[in-house]
Amino acid sequence: MPQLAQRMGRAKPSAIMVVAETAQRLKAEGRDVISFSIGVPNFLPGEHVYAAAREALEHDSGQYGNNRGANAVLDAFIGHLGRLGLDGYTRANCATGVGAKHILYNLAEALLDEGDGFAFATPYWTSYMDIAEIVGADIQLLPCPPEQDYKLTPAQLDAALAKKPKVFLFNNPSNPTGMVYTKDEIAALADVVARHPDTWIITDDIYNMMVFDGVGYHNFVHARPELRDRVIFVDSLSKTYGMPGWRVGLMAGPESVAKAMTVMNSNHITSLPEVVSAAAAAALSGPQDVPAERCAEFQAKRDQVVAALNAIPGVVCPVPQGAFYAFPDISVAFGKSHGGKVIANDVDLCNALLEAKGVACVPGSAFGEPRGLRISYTCPTPQLAPGLARIQEFFAELA
Ligand code: PLP
Repeated sequence: MPQLAQRMGRAKPSAIMVVAETAQRLKAEGRDVISFSIGVPNFLPGEHVYAAAREALEHDSGQYGNNRGANAVLDAFIGHLGRLGLDGYTRANCATGVGAKHILYNLAEALLDEGDGFAFATPYWTSYMDIAEIVGADIQLLPCPPEQDYKLTPAQLDAALAKKPKVFLFNNPSNPTGMVYTKDEIAALADVVARHPDTWIITDDIYNMMVFDGVGYHNFVHARPELRDRVIFVDSLSKTYGMPGWRVGLMAGPESVAKAMTVMNSNHITSLPEVVSAAAAAALSGPQDVPAERCAEFQAKRDQVVAALNAIPGVVCPVPQGAFYAFPDISVAFGKSHGGKVIANDVDLCNALLEAKGVACVPGSAFGEPRGLRISYTCPTPQLAPGLARIQEFFAELA
């Protein structure tokens, strides 16, 4: 029998999906499961988004669309960039894709040849590793442990960029840690980036509207506008607008990169569907109260999650300031046991927690940080307190 390509041996199914599927199976068996596993928003976009989709359906041409993206989407995205203080982008700087995941994969294909250096911090969003493996990049991990609040320091970045990776991928706010870089921290990192002209910078900032405590969203381009010829900003409607299933990703960057994305689209997907484009344009250009209200809700939930986790003796949860994730250091449990089962590592802990208490979390090793555990707190609000109480009970029962 013929073999699959070697690159498929390097690609793994998402660890997050594996946990979510186990949780779903237990639920189907009648178990009372609270899922803190998958990072999906628990809300829908505003009515104006559905109205635009219905209207588009009425007048659907049924034709292929523009490879780069519909003009209405590109213009609405440029308006969104303006709201973020990222001015001066034109349609020629932008492109759409089937979610940010697709954009990131296309960027990896467009910017990296096999063996090229690809640098990113740990903990990382799981797909970074898989995309890097599939394209055969030389992966350079920059460890950001809980002791440094999971944040990259300028010295670390300087040392990494001195090795001249072709691409440095930066994620702010972070999935899985929820960490957000302050204006000063971004400025210090941007100074480092400016000293290393041989590296493309991708900023995966899809949670840019989910920032708490008035910290604000900051990009290297805010700090140093001249970096615009190397910084590629990636965005998505999935999380902030409650539209993960609509599959809309966006990028803004140098014209050459946006054109490469357009060429990739012309060969992979041709275009986004007309109805999806109409909904995307409406989300980006219409009232912004859904993301604003959800952000306030997530900040309140964040407070509840962090307080409950830090109340567990030995567990340390740096305070996330964005997205909807918390990433406590749970290594205090390693070497102990629960109900006779030894907890040697994060995977044992997640399995035991799911079995014993019906709470699903994702092991930190899925994100390159085995001392941690990711809690996604998008579950319905009434489930949050009982879920956290079960985690507390679990730790109290460790022997
Ligand atoms: N980047 C980050 C940091 C994410 O957390 C996710 C989704 O979880 C994505 C990209 C992919 O988003 P999309 O749904 O637009 O493909």
